[in-house]
Amino acid sequence: MKRAAGFLLHYLRARRGPRWADRAAFERWREARILRHIARVRREAPFYRELWTGIADSDWRIFPQIDKSVMMTNFDRLNTAGVSKAEAFAVAEAAEHSRDFKPALRGITVGLSSGTSGNRGLFLVSPEEQAAWAGTMLGKLLPVSLLGRCKIAFFLRANSNLYESVGGRRLSFGFYDLLDPLERHTGRLRAERPDLIAAPPSMLRALAGELLAGRLDIRPRRIISVAEVLDPLDRPVIERAFGQAVHQVYQCTEGFLGCTCAHGTLHLNEDIVYIEKEYVPGKPGTFVPIVTDFSRRTQPIVRYRLNDLLVERAGPCPCGSPFTAIERIEGRCDDIFYASPLRQGAGPVAVYPDFVTRAIIGASSEIEQYRAVQTAPDRWTIELDVRCEARPAVETRIRQAIGALCARLGAAAPTLAFAPYAPLSGGRKLRRVERRHTP
Ligand SMILES: [Zn+2]
Repeated sequence: MKRAAGFLLHYLRARRGPRWADRAAFERWREARILRHIARVRREAPFYRELWTGIADSDWRIFPQIDKSVMMTNFDRLNTAGVSKAEAFAVAEAAEHSRDFKPALRGITVGLSSGTSGNRGLFLVSPEEQAAWAGTMLGKLLPVSLLGRCKIAFFLRANSNLYESVGGRRLSFGFYDLLDPLERHTGRLRAERPDLIAAPPSMLRALAGELLAGRLDIRPRRIISVAEVLDPLDRPVIERAFGQAVHQVYQCTEGFLGCTCAHGTLHLNEDIVYIEKEYVPGKPGTFVPIVTDFSRRTQPIVRYRLNDLLVERAGPCPCGSPFTAIERIEGRCDDIFYASPLRQGAGPVAVYPDFVTRAIIGASSEIEQYRAVQTAPDRWTIELDVRCEARPAVETRIRQAIGALCARLGAAAPTLAFAPYAPLSGGRKLRRVERRHTP
């Protein structure tokens, strides 16, 4: 009962949208919420209590930052549910292995983020937080036309009872396992005819291919991109195939960080998370978010540095929301390429994922799919899906574009190796720009 009420409350709140007269009023409200949250976390989480020794709550902006490795190392004393890392991993891994997703420990939902083995994150969510999350998410994302009834197809690497919590008479959730073959998905979609599809853009792109080829005929009313970067190459193909704008959810283990408004602009969910911006050098308006989630108590996230690069939107969004508008999620900090400097004595030159993307897709409209991988300090591999006859010319133009990009940045041009595009298997996350070596 408490959960249903929590769901409804958050749903209605999110539905109504921002309720502050202006940004200043919003910031006053938020600061009070954060201070209350900080005081509670200090009481309940021994890890934070020790980390913040000697610093007053009101100075929370100077608390030491943490990141994923700090969180995972201190997991047992950071969460307030008394769950150990070992037992949480055991429960989550068993669920993932059996693909029977009801992992819960003493009523707390346990989830595992994707990542390379040894680098996976854990999240813990209480039933109240789960209801609040589901309410907020649906309130922010469901179009008005779907309020009455909605069938949702959710493509996930691993299901979680987080998503099943919101099923009911009017809302139904279909979990589509990303490990299943495409034919199984298209068969199910044909039978279930969802109103809303939420999936990583690589899957949306694959479905777009089926639609455009006439092998699939569904008309969902909303398409939501989740879990991967929505690449400028994929977006127009998906929008054309589905005949509508793609919406986005920016969510990770660390929280529900943002989603698109009715205008399709991605806004940070500043009513539940506080996001500090650590601007990066050499790329105006681009920053690494430092997250403080003031809605989660089970696994508090305070001044947590994400491994993401976000680009601010230049002008305000016409929707009038006081929440920060984002132009795009660019990728991960770990995927910034580093090139040798032309000037002697200078440090490595950062080549941002966006620069690489634009150099490649700007070189030719013939490119269907691509992947750029930095494999060594001066070596990049560019995988391309392009018509055979066009390939030599496209490769030449990409060489020129990357040469010009590096010259502009004051970096030595890398040696480029071209290869055919190899589709990903096993439900892995698609990163079109990926660094595989450590500088
Ligand atoms: Zn907006």
